[in-house]
Amino acid sequence: MYIKDTSLHTCGHCGLRGLLKSLSGYCERGLETIKSPCGYLVREYLQPWGVAYELSLCTSCGEVTLTKVVWHDDWKPQDYSYFILYPPEGKK
Ligand SMILES: [Zn+2]
Repeated sequence: MYIKDTSLHTCGHCGLRGLLKSLSGYCERGLETIKSPCGYLVREYLQPWGVAYELSLCTSCGEVTLTKVVWHDDWKPQDYSYFILYPPEGKK
């Protein structure tokens, strides 16, 4: 299950880490739908991984950063993949 740990998030504006305050979050778990050959829904399997989106406010510069987190049940929060979606890279 996804463990929210904003101390692992990096501000996309000033680059400081661990100073982000979570404003809003969205978490989604992968779902695989198994269908029978004739198209009927047979089963849905929940995957042990998912994607989360975290909107956070930097307490240092006051700007908002949107981070995408790829998580897995077997990983520790520091092993998750973090991608900054906003601000766009190179635009500071
Ligand atoms: Zn900042």
